Amino acid sequence: MTAHIRPDLATIPAYVPGRNHPDAVKLASNETTVGPLPSAAKAIAESAEQANRYPDNQVTELRTALAEFLGVEVANVAVGCGSVALCQELVQITCDAPTDEVVFAWRSFEAYPIVTQVGNATSVPVPLAEGYLHDLDAMADAVTERTKLIFVCNPNNPTGTAHGRAELERFLDRIPAHVLVVLDEAYYEYLRLTPETRPDGVEIGRTRPNVVVLRTFSKAYGLAGLRVGYAVGAPEVIAALMKVHIPFSVNRIAQVAAIASLQARGELLDRTDVLVAQRHRLRDALLAAGYPVPSSEANFVWLPLGARSVEFGEASAAAGVLVRPFAGDGVRVTVGDPHEIDRFLAFATAPETVARFR
Ligand SMILES: *Cc1c(COP(=O)(O)O)cnc(C)c1O
Repeated sequence: MTAHIRPDLATIPAYVPGRNHPDAVKLASNETTVGPLPSAAKAIAESAEQANRYPDNQVTELRTALAEFLGVEVANVAVGCGSVALCQELVQITCDAPTDEVVFAWRSFEAYPIVTQVGNATSVPVPLAEGYLHDLDAMADAVTERTKLIFVCNPNNPTGTAHGRAELERFLDRIPAHVLVVLDEAYYEYLRLTPETRPDGVEIGRTRPNVVVLRTFSKAYGLAGLRVGYAVGAPEVIAALMKVHIPFSVNRIAQVAAIASLQARGELLDRTDVLVAQRHRLRDALLAAGYPVPSSEANFVWLPLGARSVEFGEASAAAGVLVRPFAGDGVRVTVGDPHEIDRFLAFATAPETVARFR
């Protein structure tokens, strides 16, 4: 007889890695295509020589650098093994009964329902509104006395849509102060809303202690393989996050690479301008071919193909471009290098493809 395992885990699908074949272009995981900056690569190599030593469990240097960068206190910053680990830790610090509810939009980041279930709480998915935006009114309406946590993914993965500051503030005004609201800003650096409308969770959170912001080094900062993300919030929330943190899970190499990348952020943020130009080119070409593509504020675009999404993903893979289908909803296409986008567009805008999928 095998050991007892929580029976509810049977309903969590085992992780299926994205298909990867050597010649294919990979536009499936929202990664950047360029490797670490020379300064980051040097810090990585140097710190590897100290791999026999434990990392700093308090992540003090990186938290200090982030606090300075963001204009907050070190006590306002927690670091996690990717911001996805912080998502799970946020469930752990807020939910203590299976009836506790976690509200999030759907479709949104696929980790939200998983970390909720792993945390023994109840998911409350709220369908997206028209235009593939979060339905913020419906999300506020979904709050009950059992609600402990709300995830707002802005810009939203996988649809790329974003709410402006005023809409977010109006939503937050409706949420009781004892409910923690997570503004997941994994794609913050790709936002190009005007300065007046641009939502900055850190600014919003300054006057709202029930707001916590998540950002990551995995996307615009190009360190997806090293696993480092951070949370900015009230000291009480941060202290709780640090209590449930798996000890030493942010490794030494990740810490120094993040510091080096933060110091060289000018160069990394310049790259987002190049990406945004390609995002427009990709979307415009898809629109011209007749696909209904919502405007994106992230490093990917969304093709709402409904029931044909998986089939489209398979056809694209057969044409040498790996994209990310979400069964029944749509297909997410990462904005890669210009030649990669060309290869995807050659497939997606070919008359046979358009005739089959549009
Ligand atoms: C990519 C992503 C993250 C962060 O990923 P990590 O690599 O774990 O930092 C968080 N939230 C959303 C919505 C994402 O798309």
